[in-house]
Amino acid sequence: MQGFSLTQAIRRAVAIRPNQVAVIDAAARFSWRQFADRVAHLAAAFIELGVQPGDRIVLLAFNSHRSLECFYAAMWAGAVIVPLNHRLGLSEIVAQTNDCSPSAVVLGSDFVHLADALGKGPEGQTRALVHSAEGLAPDGFAAFEELIGRHEPVHDACRTGDDLACLLYTSGTTSAAKGVMLSHANFCANTANVVPELAMDENTVHLHHGPLFHVASAARLFSTTHVAGTHVFLPRFVAAEVIAEIARTRVTHATFVPTMFRMMLDEPIMQTSDLSSLRYVSYGSAAMPEPLLREFMAALPGVLMLQSYGMTELSPVVTILGWRDHLPEAADSGRLRSAGRPAMLAEVAVVDAEDRPVPCGTHGEVVARGPMVMQGYWNRPDLTADALRSGWMHTGDIGFLDEAGYLYVVDRLKDMIITGGENVWSQEVENALASHPAVAQCAVIGKPDPHWGEAVHAVVNLREGMSASEEELIAHCRSLIAHYKCPRSVDLRNKPMPLSGANKILKSELRAELLGEAG
Ligand code: ATP
Ligand code: MG
Repeated sequence: MQGFSLTQAIRRAVAIRPNQVAVIDAAARFSWRQFADRVAHLAAAFIELGVQPGDRIVLLAFNSHRSLECFYAAMWAGAVIVPLNHRLGLSEIVAQTNDCSPSAVVLGSDFVHLADALGKGPEGQTRALVHSAEGLAPDGFAAFEELIGRHEPVHDACRTGDDLACLLYTSGTTSAAKGVMLSHANFCANTANVVPELAMDENTVHLHHGPLFHVASAARLFSTTHVAGTHVFLPRFVAAEVIAEIARTRVTHATFVPTMFRMMLDEPIMQTSDLSSLRYVSYGSAAMPEPLLREFMAALPGVLMLQSYGMTELSPVVTILGWRDHLPEAADSGRLRSAGRPAMLAEVAVVDAEDRPVPCGTHGEVVARGPMVMQGYWNRPDLTADALRSGWMHTGDIGFLDEAGYLYVVDRLKDMIITGGENVWSQEVENALASHPAVAQCAVIGKPDPHWGEAVHAVVNLREGMSASEEELIAHCRSLIAHYKCPRSVDLRNKPMPLSGANKILKSELRAELLGEAG
């Protein structure tokens, strides 16, 4: 029996919607037939450049129709696409490229200057360089458009099942990023989980503004193709442009991380733009402060909201807080603090340090299993064995399940603060702080303390034009949560938080800043 395949979705889309729009960006608009044709030509070019089945192709680019073509052409040629985080420093980009040892590197027009650093491996192995800049190809490069024009199309290599589709590096929020091997079947399982929850179908117009090196954005590419919907690309997230694009192309679906909600709400055109086409907004990737979520829902009445929880290693979704759980009655019962129930094909449990399931309401590590679990970490069998113990993916997140099967994610194991022998979940303190009207953004970390071991420390950015003192913020927390959980110190930062490529607040950097100041 043929296994699950991501490229099969292209042929289906051509069969059912040949002339409808497959992809739109500022430079192009292609039908499904045109898109499929370009993918088959580009796949031929990759093979001509020496790419063999199973080889990796690195992509460093802002989002565009070409990124989508690269993803699919790599798979069509039987290869594995590796979109890298272009926000990283050069040495990190070189390290990840060497780690996955690609036979070809595709550079978007803003990254052509990396050719020298990435064109050769550590032992001098040459890599084919493809650039997608408009105009003439620099020396040693193959130009994207020329490649598409020059080659006869090839047939799909028909990779399926456990064959690798993507290698995605984790966000590097807690430690050095790890390469996660994700297969065709992994992403098909994710599609099966999210499509019904978001009522995605051929009328779906999905906006892709998030970086495609992040699993949440990459997975949505595949789901949109599977339903033969329309892909809309923005190079990157810029709040005003996202809002304008939703209105311009009548976007129906989009997904955001919490920090983006704030940026959109603070954007004046949010109030004046016609966002009536938007039907579903999903969010996840990091804990969502409830006050921020409520503010966003109030700004977009009628839009159905959905939260998902997961991680790169889980392709990524394993629990879903569906739109019904966001309706006022369910929301007022505390449901908005939950990450939802297991997705259709996922099994989720909470276990103790010996991997035994704990009773409902008890905290433990969240584990998951099912067809969305990664094939392993690239080049790291040691980490793979540790993460996939006893047949379950160990998430490194702490949470609990309630009687109705809803999962509550309380913190990452690595972010939990132990103060005076008591466990404090940093996210609980962040939720308390975030409910203060003057707080725009906050992060809570442990500060080394001779007496308490760690002391709860908050880093806060206030909303423009608003003020609040350190004492006032601590008093606000004291009115909501136990005293030992409240910050002992507050840093009113007034400069941007360090963010990862996926726009998550990097607490590791805040900790390093704090230690630097102390030292
Ligand atoms: P690294 O593994 O390199 O430290 P990372 O864990 O941030 O980086 P991702 O795979 O992008 O890399 O993120 C997965 C993590 O994001 C989860 O383990 C969890 O901590 C957090 N997360 C995802 N969705 C949610 C959610 N809905 N609510 C709370 N946290 C979430
Ligand atoms: Mg992780």
